[in-house]
Amino acid sequence: MLTTTQSYIDMEDEYGAKNYKPLDVVLCRGQGVWVWDVEGNKYMDCLSSYSAVNQGHCHPRIQQALVEQAGKLTLVSRAFRNDQLGPFYKELCELTHSHTVLPMNSGAEAVETAIKAVRKWGYKIKKVPEGQAEIVVCANNFHGRTLTIVGFSSEPQYRDGYAPFTPGFKIVPYGDAAALRQAVTPNTVGFLVEPIQGEGGVIIPPKGYLKTAREICSQNNVMLVLDEIQTGLGRTGKLLAEEHEGIQSDLTVIGKALSGGFYPVSAVLSNKEVLGVFKPGDHGSTFGGNPLACAVARMALKVLMEENMIENAATMGGYFLGRLREIPSPRVKEVRGRGLMIGVELLPQAGGARRFCEALLKKGLLCKETHENVIRLAPPLIVKKEEIDWALEQIRAVFTAS
Ligand SMILES: *Cc1c(COP(=O)(O)O)cnc(C)c1O
Repeated sequence: MLTTTQSYIDMEDEYGAKNYKPLDVVLCRGQGVWVWDVEGNKYMDCLSSYSAVNQGHCHPRIQQALVEQAGKLTLVSRAFRNDQLGPFYKELCELTHSHTVLPMNSGAEAVETAIKAVRKWGYKIKKVPEGQAEIVVCANNFHGRTLTIVGFSSEPQYRDGYAPFTPGFKIVPYGDAAALRQAVTPNTVGFLVEPIQGEGGVIIPPKGYLKTAREICSQNNVMLVLDEIQTGLGRTGKLLAEEHEGIQSDLTVIGKALSGGFYPVSAVLSNKEVLGVFKPGDHGSTFGGNPLACAVARMALKVLMEENMIENAATMGGYFLGRLREIPSPRVKEVRGRGLMIGVELLPQAGGARRFCEALLKKGLLCKETHENVIRLAPPLIVKKEEIDWALEQIRAVFTAS
């Protein structure tokens, strides 16, 4: 009888690869900021599927767009055109002030696409000698799990056992503009960076870092590639996190909330020059840009804007952050965040973030540790003040008790 949490867990453990260590809660329903488990318990989701459900679980308008499109046309491949792709491009470009879009599915695929684009741009336009292109990346980065991407990770576990890796990447400390300046050579084609490091522990770089990085890139004819898969689409209280420093990237990678969690949809946004290097046959994806994905993404963007989720992220984020900082706890090293992307870093002697997440689970609040000592709090952007107050009560109880 598969009615209890444990029986589902046993089944996963028996048949599934164990590349994750999830909290032991088996969810079967979601609505807005709330989710329910198979035993009927209700939880507030403070992870939002790593910011893929910024619009809240099962947003009714996105659900309707999905169902309607699923009954019309789902996939024709890019061998043919479809009536959702053009409008998706146009709406996304107008919203983000971009010139060109290249649609993919997962975030990692879109990052790979951006890497291919800047390399090709380097050879075709910048005239870097063949095979010599360099891309600068940051220590403590997270850009996905493909072989090329983990090859330039500084996290030993992400790389262990997967060598040999793709060459051509140089790692500099995050937030250190001088190190970036030093790393740039005539063969540097791109600088790939997260505006705030999410998986790295909600690390916010020093003020002015992205602005200086933008200047360094412009001075050296290097493409600035922002990975906004997590920071983008409202999470930090702006549509794109680059707006906090008033800059514009050359390439921006988005994903996750681009579909409101219904479907994997990602995209690379660029000025014409960079993505313009791709000619027919240079790159592709069977599912990228399919009509179902486009219809879902169009509605996911529409509700984000029409329902004022970005302003709500800014105001609710500021409120949440302020109130969290008031919670007295000798175990907390720092509470930091921007918008609704919040990290609570514990002191090493606190015994790790995992046990706090497990204690919060028992109180009906779902969140997840990132690295050893950081609890990430990132509810859907539709969260209300009363819901944050409820979350604060649970957090306060756990932090003052354990
Ligand atoms: C989640 C994430 C990715 C990878 O996206 P997937 O859809 O899991 O491949 C890349 N970069 C950042 C910043 C992310 O947060």
